[in-house]
Amino acid sequence: MSNVKNPPAWLGVMGGGQLGRMFAHAAQSMGYNVAVLEPAADCPAGQAANRLINAGYSDAPGLDALAAQCVAVTTEFENVPADSLSRLAQSVFVAPNAHGVSVAQDRIAEKSFFVASAAKSGVMPAPHKVIDSDAAIDAIGDELLPGILKTVRMGYDGKGQVRVKSREDVRAAYESMGKVTCLLEKMLPLAYEVSVLTARGADGASVVYPIAENVHRDGILFTTTVPGPNITADCAAKAQRAAQAIVAELGYVGVLCIEFFVLADGSLVVNEMAPRPHNSGHYTIDACVTSQFAQQVRAMAGLPLGDVRQHSPAVMLNILGDIWYEGEGDDVREPAWDKVLALPGANLHLYGKEEPRRARKMGHLTFVAPTLAEAQQHLNAACAILG
Ligand code: ADP
Ligand code: MG
Repeated sequence: MSNVKNPPAWLGVMGGGQLGRMFAHAAQSMGYNVAVLEPAADCPAGQAANRLINAGYSDAPGLDALAAQCVAVTTEFENVPADSLSRLAQSVFVAPNAHGVSVAQDRIAEKSFFVASAAKSGVMPAPHKVIDSDAAIDAIGDELLPGILKTVRMGYDGKGQVRVKSREDVRAAYESMGKVTCLLEKMLPLAYEVSVLTARGADGASVVYPIAENVHRDGILFTTTVPGPNITADCAAKAQRAAQAIVAELGYVGVLCIEFFVLADGSLVVNEMAPRPHNSGHYTIDACVTSQFAQQVRAMAGLPLGDVRQHSPAVMLNILGDIWYEGEGDDVREPAWDKVLALPGANLHLYGKEEPRRARKMGHLTFVAPTLAEAQQHLNAACAILG
């Protein structure tokens, strides 16, 4: 069976956020039509899509309309109900499939998968333990403290996480989160954090982008730098090998991003994976031959995977709603985009979100330059302008 889906066929996206929007831009530039399923009437992806199906993520008529319109469907967020992907898969090609997404959306399944695939990937997750009862808290060993208590499902951008020092802290945090099942992870001394963006086609071919180095602030990605200033050739090679083993073990099709911690001795710890394009891969739009979104299009359409070569050093800065506000006040001001865009190598991406809430991802800026030092210098200048 030929799996190639040529333009102008329709490609479907579960979810209406910024990742769906950038996917739509990439797909449309290749001549595809894009349908988005999303309950919100005004959403970043809906603004860009050829068709917005306003329906809940589990709404059967909505899912059936998406499947009927499209030749392939993908997701732009990991908490899409796995059952919905299974339903779609009865009548349309779905990538990534329900299995890959269900592993990534459940921290217990994800950690178990990492442990089970460690022999092939060469990396282990942080020491951890499931916390699903008071008895489980009583049984916590000292070796897991201090740690981070994370909800098993629905966590993102540091949400659903509490840092804990003692068993009593764990108890209080578990109660504050409504006693939903959690995972206690040992707090590791991170030297730095990296992510590996990879894509795998239905034919089993896979590619790995250059390793990205990430800095988080308050649990949210702040900057991504590629090539990462701290990454050694040895670390990059290990992370790339791990990523390729992980996508192959999952039998995954599409773009997948894996986050790793790097410890002081250079060892790698696998943290989590996102079954979709990722915030730390946004730099690929401006700095790589094939962006992560164009790569997702290729993977789901059965086309050959694109060249992952990076043509310019790049630094990406997330733009949060905070910069629309001065200090603690409620007055909204327009960021000085004219000044930012006067800087060399500046690429502005805004997601069409009307309301600039604090900590809300409104867009990102990527600086590309002939050298990383220049890109960083211009990014620092942008930070000074944006405040
Ligand atoms: P999210 O789903 O919110 O991205 P993560 O598990 O990636 O959740 O955690 C967010 C950030 O918190 C990480 O990028 C890292 O900076 C920090 N963090 C998470 N787990 C640990 C850990 N075990 N040790 C040290 N820092 C951690
Ligand atoms: Mg993370």
